Amino acid sequence: MDFSGKVAIVTGASTGLGEMIAEELFKRGANVVIAARHEKQLVDVANRLDPTGKHVYAVKADVRDHNSVKNLIDATMERFEALHFAVNNAGITGPAGTAVPDYEISDWNDVISTDLTGIFHCLKYEILAISSSGGGAIVNMSSANGVVGIAGQAAYTAAKHGIIGLTRSAALEFADKGIRINAVGPGYVSTPRIREMPEEVLSQFASLHPMGRMAERSEIASFVAFLLSDQSSFSTGGFYPIDGGYTAR
Ligand code: NAD
Repeated sequence: MDFSGKVAIVTGASTGLGEMIAEELFKRGANVVIAARHEKQLVDVANRLDPTGKHVYAVKADVRDHNSVKNLIDATMERFEALHFAVNNAGITGPAGTAVPDYEISDWNDVISTDLTGIFHCLKYEILAISSSGGGAIVNMSSANGVVGIAGQAAYTAAKHGIIGLTRSAALEFADKGIRINAVGPGYVSTPRIREMPEEVLSQFASLHPMGRMAERSEIASFVAFLLSDQSSFSTGGFYPIDGGYTAR
């Protein structure tokens, strides 16, 4: 999987999964535009990945705001004059352990506008840019909870299910136009945010997977790279669990 000469956007790349996916694409030769809300963290990641500043470009963007997303795509086209790949990864979990009657309206709106509407905003502008660059591929970040429920996290579950539907519709619209669009569903991943949780919570997360552990970030990043690459050239509109068997039972 050689991505030399390709241009990729990764949203939510200031930390966590997005940061690792950006690193994977950069190491494979891509020019990578990394986007997130917090500029300082984003610039630190860009400097760490590519101290030359030539191939990794940090753009502050809020996926909830369609103007901000449009600016991200415009900035990408201005800097690298093309877009081939996008990984729409930015997301929040919202409250945990909160049943629907107690779920605040503002929390619901926050999660849906980030996790679901945010991906719609990204697709809306990325597809046109990828089309004008001769085609490419997009991966949307759903979750294992995109196909099974999780009590106490209704907005997250609803958004992650919605991403799969959005992915399928967009994929059908562009299946014969050289743009492949897929979704992935990680189980719990050992990210810096999750590793801060108490040991008993980490063990509980690990036990949810038949493999008896959480995923490493690299296990998600390599799968995403595969779905962007020509090695998956007949795959579009798919949902791919990467969950150690979480959704198999
Ligand atoms: P994280 O909290 O570590 O990082 C989230 C990233 O998204 C950050 O860069 C943050 O700045 C960015 N972000 C949040 N809201 C944004 C907004 N409005 N606009 C732009 N950027 C925004 O999260 P993570 O654990 O790395 O998760 C990344 C994605 O993977 C999310 O969509 C999450 O739902 C999904 N996911 C994570 C896990 C897991 O166990 N970590 C499992 C399944 C799915």
